[in-house]
Amino acid sequence: MTEVNERVRRLGVLGGTFDPVHLGHLVAASEVCQVLGLDEVIFVPTGHPWQKLGRELAPAEDRYAMVVLATASNPLFSVSRVDVDRPGQTYTVDTLDDLRAERGPAAEFFFIMGADAMRGLGTWRNPQELLTLARFVGCTRPGHEMTAEMMADERFLRVEIPALEISSTMCRERVANDLPIRYLVPDAVADYIANRRLYLT
Ligand code: NAP
Repeated sequence: MTEVNERVRRLGVLGGTFDPVHLGHLVAASEVCQVLGLDEVIFVPTGHPWQKLGRELAPAEDRYAMVVLATASNPLFSVSRVDVDRPGQTYTVDTLDDLRAERGPAAEFFFIMGADAMRGLGTWRNPQELLTLARFVGCTRPGHEMTAEMMADERFLRVEIPALEISSTMCRERVANDLPIRYLVPDAVADYIANRRLYLT
């Protein structure tokens, strides 16, 4: 009998509404990938994020398509449909369960997020279980810091990333005000938004 010792793959997971995906997301993924020596970063567009139900999102298939276009040129980036395809609201505990089922036991997950968003982790679904499913990587930007408590906890990692003051909200508002978003999002994403007439109002 041959025994195959499968190497544990270090997988970044960048979950996001990505409404739309922009260069800040791509720079964060690329920087964390390099600094933590990840084998891959999986972008996971949300289906129905429960904390953003107050406003209308672009359809999940459009947000997914934009992430596919944005990541196509980087062989270390991939896109997962687990959240788009799961009915109901999106919870990260389900995202990580589904990715574990897909990728098997020889995978270690690093969930990448803005350092300030990490402060809200306690309000996410099943926070205690969540912390057993992945390590959490806070990307620091000016004015966005982790708490001292998190800095001391080995389940939380901190990676400094080049600051890009771009947000999805800014991109949507610029489109609505007829201002350019080229150079804030990949060209293919800007073209997709124009062709699909997204964010016009
Ligand atoms: P998003 O707005 O699309 O952003 C995705 C990530 O990129 C966020 O962590 C965001 O951090 C970061 N980011 C945005 N702009 C950046 C920039 N210029 N430079 C560096 N990083 C930047 O996504 P989201 O709506 O916050 O959702 C993130 C994930 O959290 C999703 O997978 C969602 O399902 C999950 N979530 C789960 C629960 C739950 O399970 N109950 C609750 C809430 C969120 P910032 O937020 O700091 O901008």
